[in-house]
Amino acid sequence: MSRNFQAQRLNLQELAHDGQPWSETTLIKDLQRLADETQGLSPDDAVQWQATGELRPKTGADDQVWLHLSAQARVPLTCQRCMTQVAMPVGVDQWYRFVDSEDIAMAEDDEAEEDLLVMVPLFDLMALLEDELLMALPLVPMHESCPVTPVFSAGDPAVDAAEAKPNPFAVLGQLKKS
Ligand SMILES: [Zn+2]
Repeated sequence: MSRNFQAQRLNLQELAHDGQPWSETTLIKDLQRLADETQGLSPDDAVQWQATGELRPKTGADDQVWLHLSAQARVPLTCQRCMTQVAMPVGVDQWYRFVDSEDIAMAEDDEAEEDLLVMVPLFDLMALLEDELLMALPLVPMHESCPVTPVFSAGDPAVDAAEAKPNPFAVLGQLKKS
């Protein structure tokens, strides 16, 4: 059995005929748009993913190519409370059905649970994986409990008290001037 698929130039018909789950690991640093969203990315931070192709019969037409993509990663992002790194779990689990044209995809997309994509001779699975991971990123990444004191502390009683109480030396300086 040949498993020499190329993730950026994938023959979906071959993957579907093969029918076996194809599991791979891709380094996050090689997914540039995703890497741009990270903070403190380490060189071996990676996405584990699995792609499975299927041929499903369709009455009065050629078999349709379906693709299932699942992926898991821990993506180092910026905590929106303390601004330090927070590793967020990000997951993808999606079915796609490949159709002959953009028109068919548009027409059938509303009632379909799966995503519809237009069939191409060589499919860029890495671009799809990266798109899905970007969409799966949390809008507001945050630690459950921040390891450091948040830098933004409006309404923090300690800060308010410090601001309200004048520095004695500053008062002294003003007295000397006048
Ligand atoms: Zn935090």
